[in-house]
Amino acid sequence: MKERAWYKCPICNYKLLMINPNKVIEGVYIKCKKCSQEIEIKNTSQNQSQSRQLTG
Ligand SMILES: [Zn+2]
Repeated sequence: MKERAWYKCPICNYKLLMINPNKVIEGVYIKCKKCSQEIEIKNTSQNQSQSRQLTG
């Protein structure tokens, strides 16, 4: 299993940075060098293992 994957700009598909697709990432912003747009780096993991449920 790969631990790194390219996070590409959703606008121009330029390779912005590498992320670990197994980790949840949110609230990280980067400015794309190619299209000069501010992109939010967001990865919501769908892995349910060891997820803690909040009760109450
Ligand atoms: Zn771009």
